[in-house]
Amino acid sequence: MSKNILILPGDGIGPEIVSEAMKVLVCLRDDYGLDVDMDEALVGGAAYDAIGHPLPEATLQYAREADAVLLGAVGGPKWEPLDISVRPEKGLLGLRSELGLFANLRPAILYPQLAEASTLRPEVVSGLDIMIVRELTGGIYFGQPRGVRDLENGEKEGYNTLIYKESEVERIVRVAMDIAMKRGRRVCSVDKANVLECTELWREVAIRAGSDYPDVELSHMYVDNAAMQLVRAPKQFDVMVTTNMFGDILSDCAAMLTGSIGMLPSASLDENGKGMYEPIHGSAPDISGKGLANPLATILSVAMLLRYSLDEPSLAERIEQAVNSVLDSGLRTPDIASPGTVEVGTSEMGDAVVKALRAA
Ligand code: NAD
Repeated sequence: MSKNILILPGDGIGPEIVSEAMKVLVCLRDDYGLDVDMDEALVGGAAYDAIGHPLPEATLQYAREADAVLLGAVGGPKWEPLDISVRPEKGLLGLRSELGLFANLRPAILYPQLAEASTLRPEVVSGLDIMIVRELTGGIYFGQPRGVRDLENGEKEGYNTLIYKESEVERIVRVAMDIAMKRGRRVCSVDKANVLECTELWREVAIRAGSDYPDVELSHMYVDNAAMQLVRAPKQFDVMVTTNMFGDILSDCAAMLTGSIGMLPSASLDENGKGMYEPIHGSAPDISGKGLANPLATILSVAMLLRYSLDEPSLAERIEQAVNSVLDSGLRTPDIASPGTVEVGTSEMGDAVVKALRAA
């Protein structure tokens, strides 16, 4: 039966990069027999402009019915003055929570052709391939009570709650373990169990859930050390699993080891493997409409979509190989260009990936 992909271009460079990813999907459909339908809907600032809300009910309904969602990016200065309840980012957060997307997967891969783009020495990062699995719908970002209150002495006091149920920890650890089984079979669970009771429980549950995976080596690291190790010797990690806030910080750090924000995809999955796929970068208003955006992170998000939601790992690999061969050929969008490479725009880069796919 044909699978349905909901396409949400969003704002800024979103529509430009998503249309290149759609070229790839069309090529896989026409040349490789991928049985997919694609629908498009509004989200973010574009939805606010058209309908007055960043996550229209119709978009949410399409997203619930789709097998997977591919998103460009949302937001931009135009919508910053809006009330926080209708800002474009609310559309994104709404999709994550309404679809129950509790597992955020962020690979940090350094393409050998781009080793010079990292701020770290090439020998420290070359061959880097880490998967960060971040819990996305719980922890301190959602815990109650939260707020700012007035104290008797006239001072204000801000407070948030770090809270995790055993079941929430167990399901994210299992996601990390399942992924590790398909990779290097090592999981590092990151916590602050020496200080925070909540993550002491996290560690206990991780050990319990991990015992069901005798082939995976489970280790534990305090978050401060993990941050240090990520920049000291990042290649020691295979899969890292951690809380919402620690994952937010560590995944940005890991992504930047690769030096190329335009290259990194992400996936957010629910209990059944349905997911939303998007590049890790934002809507890049500074280059929007100029044909300069790098579409490769979005194209690589399609590869993740095929692997995790459509169970098409060989097509996912074909996309990744096509991206590799385009990089080998020396083509670069401006964000990853270096001396001796050939600079191209957004649509030339998308066309080059399609050509490489067809040639494979
Ligand atoms: P950004 O990721 O949009 O841009 C940061 C820098 O990276 C900019 O210089 C930009 O030109 C460059 N860049 C980003 N993607 C690129 C690409 N594909 N190719 C080449 N260069 C690229 O982050 P920002 O400037 O902090 O945020 C801009 C807007 O995006 C804000 O409204 C923010 O809220 C929103 N945002 C959205 C998401 C999302 O939709 N998931 C994520 C982050 C930020």
